Amino acid sequence: EPMIRLRGVGKTYADGTVAVHELDLEVGRGELVCLVGPSGCGKSTTLKMINRLIEPTTGTIEIDGRDVTAQDPVELRRGIGYVIQQVGLFPHQKIVTNVMTVPLLYGESRAKARARAHELMDLVGLDPATYADRYPHQLSGGEQQRVGVARALAADPPVLLMDEPFGAVDPVVRVRLQDEFLRLQHELGKTVVLVTHDIDEAVRMGDRVAIFAGGGRLAQYASPADLLGR
Ligand code: ADP
Ligand code: ADP
Repeated sequence: EPMIRLRGVGKTYADGTVAVHELDLEVGRGELVCLVGPSGCGKSTTLKMINRLIEPTTGTIEIDGRDVTAQDPVELRRGIGYVIQQVGLFPHQKIVTNVMTVPLLYGESRAKARARAHELMDLVGLDPATYADRYPHQLSGGEQQRVGVARALAADPPVLLMDEPFGAVDPVVRVRLQDEFLRLQHELGKTVVLVTHDIDEAVRMGDRVAIFAGGGRLAQYASPADLLGR
C-alpha cells in the first residue's frame, strides 16, 4: 500500500480558478517524488492539500491508508514535515531555539529538546558549536534552508513535503544542498514529495517525477530513467 494516495483530487478556488483537476497520484513508502512544471500549474496547491493547508474541492487523500479529512489537522501535521522556500525562521531567536520549537511544542523537556536540536543540526551539517547561538540573519541563505530542514525533521515525521526548498539559493549552493539532502534521505528513508519548477532538480532527485501540465493535470508520472528514455 502506498504511503500517500490521491484519488480524483481537484481544487477550484473561490474565484473559479481550477488549480488542480482530477489528480490521481501515489507515493510509495520511502519514495522521493518530485512534482515539476511551470509556475501556476498547481504544484503548491497539491502539496498544501496533503497537509490540509488547503481543502480539496473533490476527491480523497489518504496517508498511510487514512483519509486526511478524518484526522485532526494538528495531529496530521505532526506526522508531516513541511519545508518551504521562505523558511520563516523566528528572527529574534537563536538557531537552536528555532529548531527546539517543535519538540517543545510536543511537550519535551527543555534539556531533551536542546539535545534533539543539536542532533538535528549535526544531521543537516550545521555544527552546533558554531551555529547554535547564532541568529538567522547571521546565516547564509543555504544555511538557513538547512535549519528549515532540521526543524521539519524535529518530530521525526514519516512524510516530508518540500516546496521549492532550494529555490532561494544560488546554483552552486543549490546543487550542494540537493546532494546533501539525497544523502540524508538515503539514511532516513522518509516519504518525500518535493515541488520544483526545475526539471533538472526533479530528474536529479526524484525516484519518480510527476510532470504537471497547465490546470493541474498530470502529463507524465515516471522514473527519471523512463522519462529520459534510458
Ligand atoms: P504552482 O505551485 O505550480 O506555481 P499553484 O498551486 O500555486 O501553482 O497555483 C495554481 C493556480 O491556482 C494558479 O493559476 C494560481 O494563480 C491559482 N491560485 C493559487 N492560489 C490561489 C488562491 N488562493 N485563489 C485563487 N487562485 C489561486
Ligand atoms: P552565501 O554565499 O551563501 O550568501 P554569506 O556570504 O551570506 O553566504 O555567508 C558566508 C558565511 O559567513 C556563512 O558561513 C555565514 O554563516 C557567515 N555569516 C554571514 N553573515 C554573518 C554574520 N552577520 N555574522 C556571522 N557570520 C556570518
